[in-house]
Amino acid sequence: MTTASGPRKETDGAAPAYPEQHYIGGRWCAPDGAATTLPLVNPADGTRWGGIPTGSAADVDRAVEAAAGALRSWSATSPRERGRLLLRLADGLDARAERMARDITHEMGTPLGESRRLQVPLGIRTFRRTAEILSGMSAREDLGATVVHHTAVGTVGCLTPWNYPLYLVATKVAPALAAGCTVVIKPSELAPGGALHLADVAHRAGLPPGVLNVVLGDGPETGRALAGHPRLDALSFTGSAAVGRRVAAEAGAALTRVTLELGGKSPSVLLPDADLEPAVRATVQKAFQNAGQTCAALTRLLVPRAQLPDAADLASGCARRYLPGPPSDPGTVLGPLASEAQRTRVAAYIRSGTAQGARLITGGPDRVRGLEAGAFVHPTVFTDVPPDAAIATEEIFGPVLSLIPYDTEDEARRIADGLGSGLSAAVWSRDEERAYRLARGLRVGSVSVNGAPTHPDAPFGGFKESGFGRERGRAGIEEFRTTQAVHRTPPRVGDE
Ligand code: NAD
Repeated sequence: MTTASGPRKETDGAAPAYPEQHYIGGRWCAPDGAATTLPLVNPADGTRWGGIPTGSAADVDRAVEAAAGALRSWSATSPRERGRLLLRLADGLDARAERMARDITHEMGTPLGESRRLQVPLGIRTFRRTAEILSGMSAREDLGATVVHHTAVGTVGCLTPWNYPLYLVATKVAPALAAGCTVVIKPSELAPGGALHLADVAHRAGLPPGVLNVVLGDGPETGRALAGHPRLDALSFTGSAAVGRRVAAEAGAALTRVTLELGGKSPSVLLPDADLEPAVRATVQKAFQNAGQTCAALTRLLVPRAQLPDAADLASGCARRYLPGPPSDPGTVLGPLASEAQRTRVAAYIRSGTAQGARLITGGPDRVRGLEAGAFVHPTVFTDVPPDAAIATEEIFGPVLSLIPYDTEDEARRIADGLGSGLSAAVWSRDEERAYRLARGLRVGSVSVNGAPTHPDAPFGGFKESGFGRERGRAGIEEFRTTQAVHRTPPRVGDE
């Protein structure tokens, strides 16, 4: 069965009404056979508001075949034509920005103000900016008579998490389409809305059938079938390190090229001459943005031992301003976590912090009074955290900040760089050159010096267990291109 309908149009704050269907080969279609329904739950109050099917291996197969079938003609379009389509997608998303912001808030709990200011604009900008960057990129290089073509890598599978449901789909789909690839997306089962809105917009914008496909479903069945599909040429995964390992193994068995954007435990290093107040305030903001569910969240604050009491007071004061509240209220700055399972996990980490010798100075593991039905967690700060405690070494993905004292700059560098992950960091010093030197010594994919904002076109990705490959900007498009060299005999002198 197929239908032509995408997400409905209401913007009244009601639950989103996504089609409980896949989008394959330019059509909304029912799952193959009897699919299990996965519930969609509002994390603010625990109510079930919808459900999606678990895509089977046969559904994934149909989607990959549709994408592979569309590859030849899509990759033969001109970059200018693809750029125009990306801009049409940006316009289509823009026209429903408010509805998408409300849907994201409903499905995974980001406060409405943040969904409007961050979640949705980041996704839309990615399509627009990718079109602009593409227009400045060359697709051929001449080496004498030899021509090197920079060409689409092929049919691409995308697996995405729930924390930025539109943006993280956009950072894969926009550059993949720009490069001339065709795509199958398996979005998070907790927050499929971003991918479904995008499919609907693409349908209305006239993207040819098969160029973009969405298969709904969970990780172990649907995601796994996509990761190991033999007809994929590339797989782009964003999610946890644990699942990243499995996905890479599946793709490796099929000899599929892989990009992995995994988690982190990013340090914010205050050197002794740093301006304490702005550094602590900015670190708390980065730690608690999206209720701490951001891969690059600065969750470890490294402080010279003598300044620890002052830093702890400041951090605790800043954290208390993050009052948990209903995410649909535009004034709320700290919404619930995306699921009850995530709340349980974060509360267990908070308990482990106290058990492993850290000192809890704000927050704690208890439910938030008045909001007991939702997946809310108090903004939580620990000080005197032993560098080897679980809360200082493992990604928590909740609003929990750990202050870790150090005695020398060398020790600070060792603690900052001493984990398996290496996604991002911040460094603070009044001496910009000193901070820059420390930044260059860290094995992480991006570092901010003295609170400098991250440039949206700069490559983003990890070192070590934070993954490999880069997203965003020009590097993000290159990730979906490969080369073909055509060697020709040079014309002989005197030939016409
Ligand atoms: P997750 O790893 O559980 O799931 C990510 C995606 O993989 C989902 O679509 C899921 O359904 C799918 N999946 C799960 N098991 C699978 C399997 N066996 N085979 C194939 N697919 C499978 O991650 P999550 O809980 O949705 O998101 C949180 C994690 O994502 C955090 O660790 C966070 O750091 C990471 N993240 C990283 C970045 C980055 O760019 N580095 C950005 C955002 C989030």
